[in-house]
Amino acid sequence: MDTAERVLAYGGGWLDRAGELRTDPARLEALLTEPTTVVLPLWRDRCLVDGDGPVRLTGDRASLVRTAADETVFLGFDGDVAVFAVDLSGLGEPAAVEMAGAARAVDVRALVGRLDPAGAAVQAYARGLLHWHRQQRYCGTCGAVAVAGGGGHVRTCSGAECGRLLFPRIEPAIIVLVEAPGSPERCLLARHAGAAEDSYSTLAGFVEVGESLEDAVRREMAEEAGITVTDVTYRGSQAWPFPAGLMVGFRATATSDEVRVDGVELLEARWFTRAELRERVAGGRRLGRVDSIDHQLLTGWLAEAR
Ligand SMILES: [Zn+2]
Repeated sequence: MDTAERVLAYGGGWLDRAGELRTDPARLEALLTEPTTVVLPLWRDRCLVDGDGPVRLTGDRASLVRTAADETVFLGFDGDVAVFAVDLSGLGEPAAVEMAGAARAVDVRALVGRLDPAGAAVQAYARGLLHWHRQQRYCGTCGAVAVAGGGGHVRTCSGAECGRLLFPRIEPAIIVLVEAPGSPERCLLARHAGAAEDSYSTLAGFVEVGESLEDAVRREMAEEAGITVTDVTYRGSQAWPFPAGLMVGFRATATSDEVRVDGVELLEARWFTRAELRERVAGGRRLGRVDSIDHQLLTGWLAEAR
């Protein structure tokens, strides 16, 4: 694991996912009865937390929540300890909170800065996987009920003539730091519809069917900002299971510094020099969400004092 990759929230490969156990239901069942096994309860995309952060249940309490859970999924091993997550979404919020011995339900993104990176990553993983189960109860081909299996990593259509296997979906999106041609060195930031006044971030968009990631970069930059880009270079990726994203970060260079926003997704786009960005930071403004690859792309660029 590259240390730089672990700077990004929510990823990092902290668990051994032990994929080989997904086809071993007897072993998974046995792990669930081990006293050290940890069960993480979630309620409708939220962690159940007490004063110390997300609750980690073992023993009798873990068994109890499993009896009320819509799904139990195997996340992997943290060292020698098996980690599962359960979905208590079928209960009302007070009942779910009480059953888990928690104080309240909170989205993992609201806990950034208070959770250690491994804790945040595992909660995000659980959130994304359990969210998928709630969205994939039926087969999209024949409409029959889809039944969870494989430790929670697959659902199988129960239709007698179908039996399709349904796997968790990931929706990739590109996020791009665009540099201006020539000097002074500048990067393009935009004000997105719905964002706070004077809030600028890098440009992003979903990858469409039949596109490479680089195709998506070129199309999105043309559509949203009216710019043609070259030198599309991969910079890193970030798990973003809110609910099913994968953010893929790029740098690119515009062929012209003329910008024309679409007025729908982007209200304004403008070029910033490093000095201007530093001035914004000094004035108390943030460079994107601190848990996002947007923030990393910007701080990385800013640190290159060329
Ligand atoms: Zn089916």
